[in-house]
Amino acid sequence: MAKKVLIIGAGYAGIEAAITLNKKKKKDNLEITLIDKNDYHTLLTELHEVAGNRIPEEGIRINLRSIFKYTDVKVVKDEIKNFDFENKKVSSDNAVYDYDYLILAMGSSPNYFGIPGLKENTLPLWSYEDAIRIREHIKNCFLLASQEKDINKKKRLLTFVVAGAGFTGVEMIGELAIWVKSLCKEYDIDRKDVRLVIVDMLPRILNNLKEENSIKAHRYLEKKLKVEVMLNTRITGANEKGLTYEGGEIEAGTVIWSAGIKAADSADELELERVNRSKRIKVDEFCRTQYENVYCVGDLGGLSGENGMPFAAMVENAIQTAHGAAENILNDIRGKEQKKVTVKFHGTMVSVGNYFCVSEIMGKSLPVWLSIIMKFLVNIHYLWEITGFRGISRYLYHEVLERRQRKIFVEKHWSTRMQAWWLTLLRVFLGGMWLYEGIVKVTEGWFTSPKLASFLGMASDATSAATGSATYITRIDEIVNIKTGIINFLLGTESRLVEGAVISSQQFAKVDLFRFGDFSLMNWFLQNVVLANDGVAMFFQVLVVIFEILVGLMLLGGAFTFIGSLISVGLLTMFITSTGLYKDSWWMIFASIATMGGAGRAFGLDYYLIPWLNNVWESFWKNRKFRLFFKHGLDRFD
Ligand SMILES: Cc1cc2nc3c(=O)[nH]c(=O)nc-3n(C[C@H](O)[C@H](O)[C@H](O)COP(=O)(O)OP(=O)(O)OC[C@H]3O[C@@H](n4cnc5c(N)ncnc54)[C@H](O)[C@@H]3O)c2cc1C
Repeated sequence: MAKKVLIIGAGYAGIEAAITLNKKKKKDNLEITLIDKNDYHTLLTELHEVAGNRIPEEGIRINLRSIFKYTDVKVVKDEIKNFDFENKKVSSDNAVYDYDYLILAMGSSPNYFGIPGLKENTLPLWSYEDAIRIREHIKNCFLLASQEKDINKKKRLLTFVVAGAGFTGVEMIGELAIWVKSLCKEYDIDRKDVRLVIVDMLPRILNNLKEENSIKAHRYLEKKLKVEVMLNTRITGANEKGLTYEGGEIEAGTVIWSAGIKAADSADELELERVNRSKRIKVDEFCRTQYENVYCVGDLGGLSGENGMPFAAMVENAIQTAHGAAENILNDIRGKEQKKVTVKFHGTMVSVGNYFCVSEIMGKSLPVWLSIIMKFLVNIHYLWEITGFRGISRYLYHEVLERRQRKIFVEKHWSTRMQAWWLTLLRVFLGGMWLYEGIVKVTEGWFTSPKLASFLGMASDATSAATGSATYITRIDEIVNIKTGIINFLLGTESRLVEGAVISSQQFAKVDLFRFGDFSLMNWFLQNVVLANDGVAMFFQVLVVIFEILVGLMLLGGAFTFIGSLISVGLLTMFITSTGLYKDSWWMIFASIATMGGAGRAFGLDYYLIPWLNNVWESFWKNRKFRLFFKHGLDRFD
């Protein structure tokens, strides 16, 4: 009989557990069910980007069914309310689920530490809905403030407080500070009338990072983003007017609470041992609770390190504990010993708005630009694991093209989009040109007799060189040597636009990229490698023709257009640096660059090929099964 493994919670931990079980079960007869109250997974680490209106909410929401399609994981949308560990059952309002093994991965909830008024009067930032609520609330404050005549009321509406200067709080206030600039423009409000405050009881922000990084972020918040940083400030309560602290109060229309977390509210009633006041569930070194078939992972689990303290509630902890627990379930089923689960943290990145980030990777602080890139790469890596190319393209689409906070001149321009079909004719024309070139070469006998030497202008007599040249690509004739300011300016390298007197009156351009004094690496390569003997020369010339025809067909059909365009640029670069290129043909380079930007997606096969390939990849990666046919396999990404 199949062993039933039930996973409650499809956060970072639940998903990792399900993927690991599915991948490693091999011949084990397992029934894996993943239950979540939502039918989507939330990229919690990016919540602030939605709350601060950098990206739309779709950017942090991933459909669970799309993650688990082509796997043996059954996804159920349900909210589990009752847990009966003795009888191995859990239940919701509608259904009862029994299990052999249970993984609890319900995450965490905001912790108000019993401080009066906080729960009722502050906005938490802990879920997809929270992020949208905060964003809408902030917009509304600006709208109301723009209509408000009473100075005090307006002041209150324009005061935004974030309580807690840990990762979440700092990321939130940073994002808000950037957004406020455009909100002020939109609602015609002076930035000086807006007050942004971050409060913490500790003596420095980002207390978990090295002091140098916390100072860097602090300075950036104060100096660049005009945020008031209030440290050593103990919050005592909140009310409808704002926030109170020991020694004062801040009247504010918005207070965002990000100062503490505890085990998920939905786990409050569980009769399981806890580790500390965060109420995380006590587990042994194998991630098992006091019930040997019940594992607890992620933010909810209290796996402790050597210092006896639970590991920080972060993504790396979630993924590693979930992976370990899933492996231990398989070990148990296979009659093997349980393996100790340990968590290694590799790094932390904290962004403060769009253009600033501090990070510590393996104990080393990285510069701002590298930290920003690392944050992107970490997300891309995670998405690759759970969704493949589909998730990454969606993520990049939202982060780059759909980004709402565009401040830098270049960003404004690169994120301006156009429909892919505008490039269709250009792609087809470019493809046609390549195909024509390839066919002309075939009819000229490029598959049967050596032509390359004369084509490259390296044949023994100049006349044969001239006649052997192709229609639009040929060698540079060095008779008249006119340096062109334009090409020099554009390419920053020595180049010549030459009247091809011997061959025709056409003009050619050549860029000698690899010339070192009198020595030209390209010439040396052509003479000693490509034209080493007839056999090698034939190989290269056949290759050139095949590539030309291939690129032509790819671009005509819009199939793997990016790769086709890349080869096109490669071929043209090769021609420029070896034979030279008619000035009339330079357009092909720019056309190839343009078609790289997804020109095959409209009226081209890429429209179907890319989703299909993603399905093949996902099916193989997640299930170790190679499949070519899928129901709705040609549908565009959702
Ligand atoms: C704003 C923010 C920024 C963060 N930034 C970082 C960061 O930069 N780096 C980092 O490492 N960590 C960061 N974290 C922490 C990180 O997000 C968590 O450590 C991680 O999400 C924990 O994963 P998890 O699977 O344990 O829980 P979660 O991701 O919270 O998932 C829990 C899941 O359980 C479901 N669930 C709960 N109760 C039930 C129920 N009764 N029935 C069914 N389903 C249920 C929920 O719907 C949810 O999908 C951040 C967190 C926040 C909120």
